[in-house]
Amino acid sequence: MRDLSNRLDLMSVNTATFGHQWPIAKTIELLATNKVGGIAPWRREVEDGDDSVAAVARQIRDAGLTVTGYCRSAYSTGPTKRERQAGIDDNRAAIDAAAEIGAPCFIMVMGSVYDGSRDLDGAREQSIEGLARLLDHGRAVGVALALEPLHPMTAGDRSCLNTLAQAIDWCDRLDPDRAGGIGIAADVYHIWWDPALHASIATAGDRLLGYHVCDWLVPTTDLVLDRGMMGDGVVDLKSIRASMESAGYDGLCEVEIFSAQNWWKRDPADTLKVAIERFKSVV
Ligand code: ZN
Repeated sequence: MRDLSNRLDLMSVNTATFGHQWPIAKTIELLATNKVGGIAPWRREVEDGDDSVAAVARQIRDAGLTVTGYCRSAYSTGPTKRERQAGIDDNRAAIDAAAEIGAPCFIMVMGSVYDGSRDLDGAREQSIEGLARLLDHGRAVGVALALEPLHPMTAGDRSCLNTLAQAIDWCDRLDPDRAGGIGIAADVYHIWWDPALHASIATAGDRLLGYHVCDWLVPTTDLVLDRGMMGDGVVDLKSIRASMESAGYDGLCEVEIFSAQNWWKRDPADTLKVAIERFKSVV
């Protein structure tokens, strides 16, 4: 297993960790100054900020940062063809921006049953259809679709894709010949509880496109926005990373902490300082 104690080049930071307090140029500078290796930016910062996508791409390149992923997809579930098509079109545009900033993958959050529907299986079929319609475009521009299974507590609204095994199944269905262009983002917050976790990581193998770390707090106070800093919760991070690396994952470990009541209220430089310490010691 890799020793991370002196490997900040293997640390990436998802910009949501800072609560979107700063424009991305300032975040890029903070990460580069602290010798952090990577960044995973959000669409709103890249596509809706003051600078053009090309300018942000240049800032990231000039800072020497590796992009570990681009966040995140619109849902491709919905009651009408028109709504589902709008999600697909939006995702296609995002994939182009991802390519421009050098992101190897685009994080896919699938959506789930929509208002008034109880058809979870239908939402899953719509999601697979949406992925199928993006796959060739992603392949053409060199951006893989990274399916991120979300914790089953989100199955009612945010994601009908809830386990690694299910993500593997969708990958196999969409890419039976393993041509690539589709894989999995493994986020400890969503998958740590799974009895099949380690077996599924092994099965996923080279489908693993990203590894996101934080911690699960006890008690947790919010289903989305109360993630813990690594080391503050109950997740056995080292054992999960060991499985990831045994499965062949050799990419960066991306710190991703949604924390409305704690870390987002702090100065990003202070949050990064703690994240770096924890990265070296507990990830
Ligand atoms: Zn994640």
